[in-house]
Amino acid sequence: MKQRVMQKTLSERQKQIEAQRAATRALAQKAFSIDEIAKANKAYIDAEFAAMASGDDKSKTAEKAHEKYRKTLEKYGFSENDFENKPSCPLCGDTGYAGGKVCSCVWDLYVKNLKKECQIDERTKFSFDDCDLKKIRDEAQRKATNALYDSMKKYVAKFPTAKCKTLVFSGGVGTGKTCLASAMARAIIEKGYSVQFLSAYEFCSLMLKVHTSPISERNALLSDALTCDLLVIDDLGTEPMLKNVTVEYLLLTLEERQSKGLATIITTNLSGENILNRYGERIYSRLSHKQYSMIIQMQGNDLRL
Ligand SMILES: [Zn+2]
Repeated sequence: MKQRVMQKTLSERQKQIEAQRAATRALAQKAFSIDEIAKANKAYIDAEFAAMASGDDKSKTAEKAHEKYRKTLEKYGFSENDFENKPSCPLCGDTGYAGGKVCSCVWDLYVKNLKKECQIDERTKFSFDDCDLKKIRDEAQRKATNALYDSMKKYVAKFPTAKCKTLVFSGGVGTGKTCLASAMARAIIEKGYSVQFLSAYEFCSLMLKVHTSPISERNALLSDALTCDLLVIDDLGTEPMLKNVTVEYLLLTLEERQSKGLATIITTNLSGENILNRYGERIYSRLSHKQYSMIIQMQGNDLRL
């Protein structure tokens, strides 16, 4: 996905650069279609050539002709600078690289396109700035939530190098687990990584589609969920239990992603024990693996109250 988005970004950037050059050309054409400007310009160029031919690099005639040309442009609202091909990005001169890294003119557009491709705005609205933990009245809960947010911010800052690849935020309604997963997803996209944020229901529907599609089409359908840098499955446990689909494809996804060292965040109302009961030993052991997974119990009252 990242490669596709970067290619799209570079071609968009190229179009922007070309559009600016075309606008400069069009402006020049407009100016030189005015007879008075064209004449003043020709007189100036002729005077410059004559001065060059005679070896006079401080020709008064050329200087005067230049001045007249400038004044004529001004009269019609133009300036000489208008016709120069300036780079649309002064930081990198439109090379796309500045200071040994991708220039912000490319990077910002890439992140914008990545957000669009990941449909993050349609799916979540929270960023770390939106999570106001001061609102939590209970002090113990506030402290615990604060500490969790801090460690998850560190996780994002280190992303994707942390060893623990699968995080499960488990807690009752309104303990802020979706908010936290959203904030992490957004921050990770902003670092340039690809993210799929799906409700458990959407994930299950997608897997049903995969299951009922011809084998030749399955890879394309599964690709983003299995290869994106971060997959979020929101509200696990609310999806229907479909025979041969729900458990099987969740296991397949977790196995694939863990084997590739890719991160997965799951939010759920279910406790560890409930997960074990609903999805069985194999999924539970994937989610509670000592080294690579962590089930984080989110305590407390409904933060939305
Ligand atoms: Zn640039």
